[in-house]
Amino acid sequence: MRIPKTVKVGGITYKIVVAPQGDFTNNACGEIYYNRSEIRITDGETQYQARALLHEVVHAIYAHLGYNNHPEKEVDELAGVLYALIVDNPEMFEPESAPRPVMYVSDAGNWEYSGKLPPAIAAADISAKSLMAAVEKLRAVRRETDGDDEATLALCKKIIKTIEAKKKKPKADAQ
Ligand SMILES: [Zn+2]
Repeated sequence: MRIPKTVKVGGITYKIVVAPQGDFTNNACGEIYYNRSEIRITDGETQYQARALLHEVVHAIYAHLGYNNHPEKEVDELAGVLYALIVDNPEMFEPESAPRPVMYVSDAGNWEYSGKLPPAIAAADISAKSLMAAVEKLRAVRRETDGDDEATLALCKKIIKTIEAKKKKPKADAQ
């Protein structure tokens, strides 16, 4: 378990402050300040800190539920079982990893992209299909030129010129 910078309980974000043991009264290993949404835990070994943090989190849960009376024994027992549950079952709390985006050829024979397009491309309103088609065209050109960059560039320029020339041709109003 990691010690985060903040922890959210019942809609309230508590700032987590790590302080030396000497700063705490009654030799406590943690404190919670509801009025400034702050949890303080002592510096020390990570497991010890995590356990102390969970103790304060249980206090925060009790407060969220509207309980003014927090029996320390009960709070500590709950913190103990919560701590064990979390550290003994890491898989339960791991975020599901998103599948890596891949380029693939769809059933229709088009290049598709399974992921989210980079923001710049998305903003330029270039469809994944047309982008992949362009990439594939460039690959084909590179194969045609045996990967020679100069030759590829020259051939690309030629293709662009051809496309532009086609665009310039006046279209008939009707056919
Ligand atoms: Zn307590």
